[in-house]
Amino acid sequence: MARNPSTTKRRGRKPASDEERKDRIIQARVPEDLETTLKQAAEKRRMSVSHLIRNVLEDTFTLVDHIVADSSALVEQVSRDAKRVAASVRGDDCPQKKLSTQTLLDNIEAWQDVIVNKPGHCIECEAELKRGQRAYRGLSQLQGIPPVWLCEDCIEKL
Ligand SMILES: [Zn+2]
Repeated sequence: MARNPSTTKRRGRKPASDEERKDRIIQARVPEDLETTLKQAAEKRRMSVSHLIRNVLEDTFTLVDHIVADSSALVEQVSRDAKRVAASVRGDDCPQKKLSTQTLLDNIEAWQDVIVNKPGHCIECEAELKRGQRAYRGLSQLQGIPPVWLCEDCIEKL
């Protein structure tokens, strides 16, 4: 009985040649806030956005490789992981993210109109609040919670 030639041929994957290993370009559409987050995260790490995304993708695929077989599930998983990574990146310099935004907002008794000294971020839209800028500081009875800020745009949406 003749052996199926395709079985023998496929045994062991040939290592990629130098030509095949050259970097490829993948384009993806992302929402504006994700783009901003990626740029900030890349800047913080002194690397290019491209390099950061590559790292995130490499980490994510290594992580999910063993768990997810179905390719559509894989895409969803990657998208979820990417959002989670982005959220944790945002949380790096923003400790208030450790408590949920809603929990923090529910515990604010009043908003005080102040001038920012120590830079922060609006809890709703993440807008950067710079020194000298007018912003709203949440007053809360909760002990030990980080400062909660709203920008002028978001205070009007209350
Ligand atoms: Zn805002």
